[in-house]
Amino acid sequence: MHTRYPRGQSVIRLHDVSPLTWDACQEWIELGRLLSLPPMDLFVIPRHEGGPLDHGAGLPRDFVNRLKELQALGHRLWVHGWTHRGEETEDEFAGLDAVHAADRARRALNDWKAAGLPDPDGFCPPCWRMTKQALPAIARLGFPEIDLRFGVWSPAGFRLSPALSSWGGNLIMASLWDRSLVRQDRLLRMSRLPRRVVLHPQDLDGAARSSLETILDRMSNDLSG
Ligand SMILES: [Zn+2]
Repeated sequence: MHTRYPRGQSVIRLHDVSPLTWDACQEWIELGRLLSLPPMDLFVIPRHEGGPLDHGAGLPRDFVNRLKELQALGHRLWVHGWTHRGEETEDEFAGLDAVHAADRARRALNDWKAAGLPDPDGFCPPCWRMTKQALPAIARLGFPEIDLRFGVWSPAGFRLSPALSSWGGNLIMASLWDRSLVRQDRLLRMSRLPRRVVLHPQDLDGAARSSLETILDRMSNDLSG
């Protein structure tokens, strides 16, 4: 299914997919389908519902089946952190040294395999925050690609790829940023760099929704034109 996103072209990535956010995720996936966009990549949080100490946590079977169905339709599945939760904020991997970062990524992979999901297409640290030292340690776990703030790492090297993403939160800066996304998209189009359009479940309720919908609509027009 890789061929639907030829190298150098833009991709759509839906972050924070989990049983907790599923309803909103489904809305974005449906919108993509209505606009005839290529299947978006799904960034799944293996243990969103519990923390590291929650031994009963795991991905429900019907959720896993749904992910497998979507994979069969061409959606690539990525591991997006383990719990997505850090000490106080959402950037689970920020500030972790290589050993602790690799340990969390390994646990994420264990949960992933225990749920019966197919080998993941890659890994993305929550909020793209991770120390430089953690990258080689996580790469050794065998992820084909690692999605980072400014591009995508793979054993073949680093590919520069700007990300268009909402700011999050309700601060004035966030809403200014979110409203500027369409303009950012226009500039990136002119640069011809392969961009990553990033969606979050919470964008459906935020200031970024309208901007992101406009961007998706334009992508759809590009593909049909
Ligand atoms: Zn996230």
